[in-house]
Amino acid sequence: MKYPAEPFKIKTVETIEMTDREERKEILKDAGYNTFLLPSKNVYIDLLTDSGTTAMSDKQWASLMIGDEAYGGSENWFRLEETVKEIYGFDHVVPTHQGRGAENILSQIMIEEGDYIPGNMYFTTTKAHQELNGGEFVDVIVDEAHQPDVKGDFKGNVDIEKYKNLIEEVGAENIPYINVALTVNMAGGQPVSMENIKKVKEISEKNDIMVMSDATRCVENAYYIKEREDGYQDKSVKEILKEMMNHFDGATMSGKKDCMVNIGGFLAMNDADMYQEATSLVVVYEGMPTYGGMAGRDMEAMATGIRESVNPHYIEHRIKQVRYLGDKLEEAGIPIIKPVGGHAVFIDAREFLPHLSQDQLPAQALAAAIYLESGVRSMERGVVSAGRDADGTHHYPKLETVRLTIPRRVYTYAHMDVVANAVIDLYEKRDKISGLEFVYEPPTLRFFTSEFEPLNDQLIAE
Ligand SMILES: *Cc1c(COP(=O)(O)O)cnc(C)c1O
Repeated sequence: MKYPAEPFKIKTVETIEMTDREERKEILKDAGYNTFLLPSKNVYIDLLTDSGTTAMSDKQWASLMIGDEAYGGSENWFRLEETVKEIYGFDHVVPTHQGRGAENILSQIMIEEGDYIPGNMYFTTTKAHQELNGGEFVDVIVDEAHQPDVKGDFKGNVDIEKYKNLIEEVGAENIPYINVALTVNMAGGQPVSMENIKKVKEISEKNDIMVMSDATRCVENAYYIKEREDGYQDKSVKEILKEMMNHFDGATMSGKKDCMVNIGGFLAMNDADMYQEATSLVVVYEGMPTYGGMAGRDMEAMATGIRESVNPHYIEHRIKQVRYLGDKLEEAGIPIIKPVGGHAVFIDAREFLPHLSQDQLPAQALAAAIYLESGVRSMERGVVSAGRDADGTHHYPKLETVRLTIPRRVYTYAHMDVVANAVIDLYEKRDKISGLEFVYEPPTLRFFTSEFEPLNDQLIAE
């Protein structure tokens, strides 16, 4: 089916507060035109992120009741550990409070001053931890990933030539591992093919470089392999996922995405020595190696969520609901990143607002304008998210986008229609949208808390 109906029914509902445009004008101003700073009660449809926003199932809520809140050796930990080993196939698991907790431990163990860490496009927290440990991130994603209007089945792939060149240039001994994200968040949720994963593994093995995965959205990646890669149509997502993970030496996981929970994460690996080191660090930063920052009940809910995530009907609906929104926008001529990725639709803000230069923060302005017009919250993924270079100038990313991120199991197709219509209506008056300038900017991860003002009197000229 092109757009299958929700493979779940609704047992509990959460009322959405409505606001009008006049109210939103004030609310947006108070939030410094930064959608991260909006109170959630003032948001109609919240597409800020798919991180931790998942609706848990009745079985997950039931899992909370069997939380074993022991400081050491919680029952729920053993169930989580067993589930991760079974579904992803790694030998060792270290629990963490969320994905960046795993990134912190991995980076501390593996990276030495002056090392290079290749990856298929940067991710904010991943890159921050690599840099804090003296490493330098090097982007080795295929060129198409940076080209919003070029279609491709696997635009998240590692560019094998770029990777080989880097090894030649800096020496394999200065590359502790390559980090392969599945799917690639910052490229618009684009997947990586099994063939590409195998090639990366082959080259890395030859050069004695470890292959780690940012497995945050690995189930979504597995679905794309089933849909698009020869030889996988008759395999289940569960089988494909296990085959994918089999090619990695380890993985960091934000449980807030594909593990279907509101908080949690883990670091997994096959190497016993690395596991030993990770357990000695996890007690410093997270907690005992049998809870790592999570309550027993949270670990139980995550174990249940991991099993639900590989349900074939769930994952098919998930991918196709996101595609539905993308198709609606594309049919109306809205410039979006193609093809639509796994967790979000990305609007190409430079195409949408061609009258603004990147210094005028077009994606930030567009996200603010969407909220003002409709109450829909989205997120900037452009020059504001990319931060500044070492010399203090803006880092100008090729992609300047607004991300409409779909939470898992939260909204219906009717909500997607509202979002599509809001963006389409705004497109009609796009030339009236003003650029923004910074009025407050923090030193790191500035997109979270920066504040702005419109360059003209009003964000949208009336
Ligand atoms: C969310 C995310 C992370 C970080 O995980 P948190 O749970 O937010 O700490 C890392 N990598 C990717 C690709 C992500 O989307």
